[in-house]
Amino acid sequence: MDVAVLTVGDELLAGDTTNTNATWLGRRLTERGATVRRVVVVPDDVGVIEADVRDLAERYDAVLVTGGLGPTHDDVTMDGVAAAFDRELVEHPDAAAWFADHDTYSHADLTDGTAHLPEGARMLPNDEGVAPGAVVANCYVLPGVPDEMKAMFEQVAGEFAGEKRHVEVVYAAEPESALIDRIEAVRERFGVDVGSYPGDGVRLKIQGTDAETVREAADWLRERVEG
Ligand code: ATP
Ligand code: MG
Repeated sequence: MDVAVLTVGDELLAGDTTNTNATWLGRRLTERGATVRRVVVVPDDVGVIEADVRDLAERYDAVLVTGGLGPTHDDVTMDGVAAAFDRELVEHPDAAAWFADHDTYSHADLTDGTAHLPEGARMLPNDEGVAPGAVVANCYVLPGVPDEMKAMFEQVAGEFAGEKRHVEVVYAAEPESALIDRIEAVRERFGVDVGSYPGDGVRLKIQGTDAETVREAADWLRERVEG
C-alpha cells in the first residue's frame, strides 16, 4: 500500500515548528507495512491544499493530511479537502451528535464551522481535543496538534497495511565511499534493499520481506566491515 503524507501549516515552512507529525506518521505507517512515497509540506492556502490533495489522492492508495483543522481563520484544510473531492462542507450529523454528547463542548459554544465536514465523510472523533477529523474517499484528515493527531491515527491504523518489512542495522566505522563495493555485493547476493546513512560512522539499514534473508545479509556484511 503506497501512501502520501501532506502536512499543512505556514509555521512548518517557516521553520517555527518541527514537522514531527511527518516523522511520526512515517514510522507508524512503515511499521504497519505501508510504504510512504511522499511527504509534502504546504502553506495554509486552500487552493494549494486542494490541488495537492487531488493529485496525491489520485496517485497513491491513501493520503494522510495533518494540520489546519481548528476553527480559526488560518484553518482551511477541510475546505481544501472538500474542494479536492468536489464536495460541499456541511454540518456533519455525527460531529454535531458527538459534540452534543460531550458536555464540555456544548455545540452552541463552538465557533461556527467546527462541526462542518465534507459531505458524506466519515467523522473521526477527536478524543484529545475538539476539532473532528474525517475520512473522505482515500483521504484521512487529522489534526495538527501532535497528541491529537496520534490518537486519531490509532483509530484508523488498521486501515494501513502491507507486506511486513524486516530490518537489520549494521554500523561501519569507515567512510561511506569506501563501503560502496560491499553495499553492492550484499544487495546482489541477498536481494535486499540497503540504505546508507553517514553520520558518526555509517549506519547501513538492510531491509527485505524475508526475516531470515535479512538476518543472513546483516551477518554477512557485519563480518566484512570495520565495526
Ligand atoms: P487546532 O484545532 O488546535 O487549531 P489544528 O488541527 O488546526 O489544531 P494547527 O492549527 O495546524 O492544527 O496546529 C496546531 C498546533 O500543532 C500548532 O502548535 C502547530 O505548530 C502544531 N503542528 C501542526 N502541524 C504540525 C506538524 N506537522 N508537526 C508538529 N506539530 C505540528
Ligand atoms: Mg489551528
